[in-house]
Amino acid sequence: MILLSTRDKSIREDALKSVLLGIARDGGLFVPESFPQISKEKLLGFSDKGYEEISAEVLGMYFDNLGFEEIYDIVKKGYAGFDNGKAAPLKKLKDNEYILELWHGPTLAFKDMALQVMPGLLAAAKRCFGESKKTLILVATSGDTGKAALTGFKDKEGIEIIVFYPDDGVSNMQKLQMDTQEGKNTHVAAILGNFDDAQSGVKEIFADADFRRELSGKGYALSSANSINFGRLIPQTAYYISAYAQLLKTGGISFGEKINIAVPTGNFGNILAAYYAKMMGLPVKKLICASNKNNVLTDFFISGEYKSSRPFYKTSSPSMDILISSNLERLLFEMTGRDEKKVAGWMRALKDKGVYNIDDGTLENVKEHFYAGWSGEKRVFNTIKKVFEESGYLMDPHTAVAQAVYEEYTEKTKDDAKTVAVSTASPYKFCADVLLALEVDIAGRDDFGLIGLLNEKSGAAVPESIKELAQKPILHRLSIQKKDMKKTIKDILKI
Ligand SMILES: *Cc1c(COP(=O)(O)O)cnc(C)c1O
Repeated sequence: MILLSTRDKSIREDALKSVLLGIARDGGLFVPESFPQISKEKLLGFSDKGYEEISAEVLGMYFDNLGFEEIYDIVKKGYAGFDNGKAAPLKKLKDNEYILELWHGPTLAFKDMALQVMPGLLAAAKRCFGESKKTLILVATSGDTGKAALTGFKDKEGIEIIVFYPDDGVSNMQKLQMDTQEGKNTHVAAILGNFDDAQSGVKEIFADADFRRELSGKGYALSSANSINFGRLIPQTAYYISAYAQLLKTGGISFGEKINIAVPTGNFGNILAAYYAKMMGLPVKKLICASNKNNVLTDFFISGEYKSSRPFYKTSSPSMDILISSNLERLLFEMTGRDEKKVAGWMRALKDKGVYNIDDGTLENVKEHFYAGWSGEKRVFNTIKKVFEESGYLMDPHTAVAQAVYEEYTEKTKDDAKTVAVSTASPYKFCADVLLALEVDIAGRDDFGLIGLLNEKSGAAVPESIKELAQKPILHRLSIQKKDMKKTIKDILKI
């Protein structure tokens, strides 16, 4: 399938090729020329299929220069390590509400859903387009993405991956997850500084033409794995379609019945994938966009003004602590009726002034599809406790943000449509906050002590990958200054 740039529709690129490129050459994001449609028969048929098959079919609608078998193989290998053999199980919480669990992968967060598949797509793209250079993937991470990318790209041929994390910006558990990473081609470096240092360092390297040329001369092409890559978006679309098929199978809904989808949102990638599923014909009523205290999106959906220059808060849902939601650009492209000039203008204003205002017509379109709300820390903690007491279901703080906003939505609108709320992380990834929400005293416990305590208090099963972590040796100990990033890359590649 052909993709276009959100800022200039004359820039056209094959979908698979876009996985190599990341963003379009004008700085825009790649979007489908048109949305492939899932027929009624196909959707009905999905209720009898396994997750891998559904995902492969959805991917095949976009990456149409690969055969089904080839995609199926990529997907099957990608999800092979998921802990219960089911990549995206749907659980019933109460009468009208279901939870879609997206954290059964190796890093216990939803980023695995895309990052276990995207490396396979990247390898296929290299084969397909005759890219013979080695690919160097650089990642700056605030925690989740780094580990998910490391496991996804581990031992993939022709690829080296280097992850930079801020020494004082990730949790102990996240650090341990990355420092114990196995694989011949995986490299990890702690930067003495915060996330901005790591991120701006990587951005500078990407923008450094001389350094890129030098790498190229040594046989390496730079690439990124961040969430604006089209190769990360489509694997996410698949689980919404799968969720609908699961609801049909269990009789939760009848065919054609519209559902709501509630998503804890940061960079707007996950909820955009749900919107893409809707555009492909999935019967969806409202998309509920849930933010934490960094509620730039809530303000935007209400007023039409996107203002990134505002205070930044650290919350118990750190993966949603974001002020610039990059994937929103793709939604604006659709909501303006694909008006590239408007989109390009707003993105320029955001870059130059930290703010843009959309027109009334576009805002109206947005409101037709989306409801937006946010939840502060206290309500998040109360929600975790209340849901656990009422139904025995234990959720992490990110999921609780979605839950709180969903409850607010039903209260306000009295809408009783069946709703799928997305659970993006295992509660075991955020033990301390979950225990605090349950009002358990955590004094004197280390990270693994907290895991035991949460298990004892909640009865929720401890994921295997966390148990294994306690036994794994530390393999990465590199700690560097930001100014030495380039040198570190050369040392690692031995060039
Ligand atoms: C990344 C992440 C999110 C936010 O997803 P976006 O696609 O950035 O909106 C929510 N929860 C968790 C646990 C995450 O890792």
